[in-house]
Order: sequence, then C-alpha cells, then structure tokens
Amino acid sequence: MFSWTEDTFVRAKQLYKQGVKASLIAEKIGTTRNAVLGKMYRNKLSTKSTSTRRHTRHSYATHFKKYGESKCLLCNKTYTTYSKFDRFCSPCKSRDFYRSTI
Ligand SMILES: [Zn+2]
Repeated sequence: MFSWTEDTFVRAKQLYKQGVKASLIAEKIGTTRNAVLGKMYRNKLSTKSTSTRRHTRHSYATHFKKYGESKCLLCNKTYTTYSKFDRFCSPCKSRDFYRSTI
C-alpha cells in the first residue's frame, strides 16, 4: 500500500510543477494518477492556479458575455443570446422536439 512520504511528495511536487503528467509521476513514485492529483489538489498545487488565473477568469467572462437579443425561431419570443450560434430561447432548447426540428 502506497503512502506519501516527504521525499515522494517533494519529488512529485517538482515533477508536477515542471508540467509532468500526473499519470507519469504516479508511475515514477509507485502510486495512482488520482492519488497524485488528489495530493497536489489538497496542497493547492494546480498548474493553472497562479500564473494563468487572471487569464482564465477573463476568458470565462468573455465566454458568457451577453451577445445580443434575437427572436426565437420556435416560439418567436425575444430572448438573450450568448453566441451568434444561438437560434432558440433556452426553454425551447430544453424541449424534446428541439433535436428533431433541426
Ligand atoms: Zn423559444
């Protein structure tokens, strides 16, 4: 049964920071990928945490930015679109006939 020691943790941490895949780290130190990811997560060592946080938040906001308003092709109501590919309001999108209609 694998258990973390200071040595394996330091080693895994270094590899993880270098961008080595968790599955490879796991192989090297003799545990599972999930164990490595869980350990890194609990120690807040996500590779995306510090340097790219601002960028990530920015693209998230951009992605969900209101695109505009248009009329639903199914029920003819005006609704908010979030991308130029939106053709139907969300109630219509969730209806069962949405797929067969398109
Ligand atoms: Zn609709």
